[in-house]
Amino acid sequence: MVNTRSSRAPLEAEIAVPPIAVRPGLQALRDRLALTYFGCRLRAFDIVWENAMVSTSGRTFYRRRLIKISWPILRALGSRELEAVILHELIHVHLYLEHGDGSHGSRFRAHARRINRLGGYNIGVHHDAAHQVVQRHSWRCTGCGMVIHTSRDVVTI
Ligand SMILES: [Zn+2]
Repeated sequence: MVNTRSSRAPLEAEIAVPPIAVRPGLQALRDRLALTYFGCRLRAFDIVWENAMVSTSGRTFYRRRLIKISWPILRALGSRELEAVILHELIHVHLYLEHGDGSHGSRFRAHARRINRLGGYNIGVHHDAAHQVVQRHSWRCTGCGMVIHTSRDVVTI
C-alpha cells in the first residue's frame, strides 16, 4: 500500500468538520443578501431547504415563486458557499421580476461579476458547482459508512 499522505500534515488538519451544524434560517439570509446586493429584500419568492435535491445546489421555481436550496449539498460546505448559492438564485429572481429573464445570459453574468467583485464570492452559471465541490472533497469510509469531507481534492487510487 502506498502512503500518499504528506508527512508534515497531520490527519486532523485535512479533515474538515462540516461547518454548518444546524440549518441556518434561509429567509433572514435572503433578506440580508438581497438588501446588500439588490437594494431590496426580493421577498416575492420564498426560500426553503430541500432534502431531496442531491445534485443541484439551488433551484428557482418561477411559477411557484419558490427557491429551493439543497440541504444534503450545503450542509457539507461553508456559509460563504451557501451565500453564493443563494445569491445565484437571487440573480435569477431579480432578472425574472425585472425582465422576465430566467437565463444565464449576459444580464446574469454581469450581475454575477458585480456581486463577485463586491463580496468576494465565486458565483458561476452552474447549478451543480457546489455538488461537484462536495464530491471532490468527500469520501465514504467503507467500514462505518460515514462521509468525511477533506480540505483537499480526493484522489482515488
Ligand atoms: Zn442559475
